[in-house]
Amino acid sequence: MAIRTIIVDGDPLLRKISKPVENFDEKLHILLDDMKETMEKNNGVGLAAPQIGILRRIILVDDEKIFCEFINPEIIDQEGNQYGIEGCLSCPEEFGMVDRSNTVRVRGKDRYGKTFEIVATDLLARIIFHEIDHLNGILFKDIAKEMVDKKDYK
Ligand code: ZN
Repeated sequence: MAIRTIIVDGDPLLRKISKPVENFDEKLHILLDDMKETMEKNNGVGLAAPQIGILRRIILVDDEKIFCEFINPEIIDQEGNQYGIEGCLSCPEEFGMVDRSNTVRVRGKDRYGKTFEIVATDLLARIIFHEIDHLNGILFKDIAKEMVDKKDYK
């Protein structure tokens, strides 16, 4: 495994639309393992492939209870509302308050190409929305209602 470099806001790759994964092969598995190591090394709760400069529809989420890899994730349904603070490994030292749905049903493929669905709520749902936004070139600061100083929320 290898730690990949996380690109930061200002890099045009973060603004591109990522393409679906078509090959569920060894190369994908290496990429997923590298992404996990990179996320953990940076104490992230999620990571999207474009954040390491790979324009493919891959996200990892980890709310410390559940770790999940989604390939080609799709939001099937969402409901409720939550308002909370977000940050991003690609926007160091920046935090903002973002409206998200409280529950999301998401469908994706695992690393072997098998389709699965999960229903996530609260923080896990927030992370999923945030990471899927990355696949569409959207950063949390684009949709934040206000930017805040994180020390006020600790
Ligand atoms: Zn992010």
